[in-house]
Amino acid sequence: MTTTDTPRPTAPAIVCRPWCSDGDGHTNEFLADDQRCWSEWEAVPLSRMPLWEDINRGWNPQKLEVATEAGPRRQDAVLLYEGSRDLDLQLTAVEALAVAAALTKAAARLMDGAR
Ligand SMILES: [Zn+2]
Repeated sequence: MTTTDTPRPTAPAIVCRPWCSDGDGHTNEFLADDQRCWSEWEAVPLSRMPLWEDINRGWNPQKLEVATEAGPRRQDAVLLYEGSRDLDLQLTAVEALAVAAALTKAAARLMDGAR
């Protein structure tokens, strides 16, 4: 038997969250600390922001991406990502709801003022 025939040890399955994009218990992870559920990313285009140039010299519209992450050995987090600045934020659910409420209030102020 060669070393390539030896099965790679993996961590036992975890119970996935209902929103997990994999839903397979993440048994393909070698370390239990790497087992975590990820939601699908949702992207919000930022039409008022300028295009940004990536490392392949491509021009891209800016967007804010949102996802959720959780696992038995990690704190649950709402993830925010913006690629032009490589901005990577992690929020608690309470913090995410506070940001959402602030955004809703600001947007409502603008819409109310537009009348
Ligand atoms: Zn999962």
